[in-house]
Amino acid sequence: MSLSEFDLIRRCFSHCGNGRSDVLLGVGDDAALLQPPPDMLLAVTQDTLVAGVHFPADPDPEALGHKSLAVNLSDLAAMGATPAWVTLGLTLPQPDLRWLDKFSVGLCALAVRHGVHLVGGDTTRGPLAISVTAVGFVPPGAGLRRGGARAGDLVCLTGTLGDAGLALRAPSQDQSADDRDYLRGRLQRPSPRVDAGMRLRPLASAAIDVSDGLAADLGHILDASGVGAVVELARIPCSEPVRRYLSRTGDWSLPLSSGDDYELCFTLPRERLSALDRLRAETDCGVTVIGSITEDPGLRLLDPDARTYRLEYPGYDHFGGTP
Ligand SMILES: [Mg+2]
Repeated sequence: MSLSEFDLIRRCFSHCGNGRSDVLLGVGDDAALLQPPPDMLLAVTQDTLVAGVHFPADPDPEALGHKSLAVNLSDLAAMGATPAWVTLGLTLPQPDLRWLDKFSVGLCALAVRHGVHLVGGDTTRGPLAISVTAVGFVPPGAGLRRGGARAGDLVCLTGTLGDAGLALRAPSQDQSADDRDYLRGRLQRPSPRVDAGMRLRPLASAAIDVSDGLAADLGHILDASGVGAVVELARIPCSEPVRRYLSRTGDWSLPLSSGDDYELCFTLPRERLSALDRLRAETDCGVTVIGSITEDPGLRLLDPDARTYRLEYPGYDHFGGTP
């Protein structure tokens, strides 16, 4: 791209974030200079969204800016990290200032909300793709990992599952315009559970964010921890539109394996159960116990009649447990 095109892009992103004092040098030089707090570990994550793969070919740019950052903040939340800095890699078919302005509004509004500062990035010409790297802080030994679940722990979820997946399906007659707005919002502007993640540091034995669907992502915890789990489908938290869908179709694959929910799935030692009430009071996302960790490997799903539910989901192989 030409120098003037770079200037356009810089104009949109040079003041993106909340002006943190630990950013000694931000956008505009060859590299950012950042001052991490003493005695903190850095949690670093990167997610790339590609047009036509992760979002429609002609997306709402403001929503896309929001989601590009949200998916990364969700990964930091799953580690219990406090988000701090992000960099942005933008691949654009052509520089379009109006499009970039809207994209930066979506991204920067979420950055400000979470005290995050954009400290640099890169732009290239090509098919639309967005790559964000996010950096957060976590005290040594306090980061949440996938491998700490133990038999007897409770399996818990923030928020609700299935909304983003339902937004991608054809609207049904029982959905109001408000329902459709709500579902579209959940798909396009997910709320990363950053606050809940930080509060889970002293509580959870393992955590992951639900980006690929509960069955797959809880499966990662089970694999990493060398345990299994029993989950009661009736306890999975779902919004009213998803509940109506479930009672109409009985299709539990929606909350179990449609992705893009960006809730946190975590395990909690039973003796800390009372801490959930405090967590519920301190966060606005809701927290629900949906099952428990077992010594037997595999994920066992129980339908509302306490029968084993078999989920058809090619590519997912965590159903080795004995029903
Ligand atoms: Mg993740």
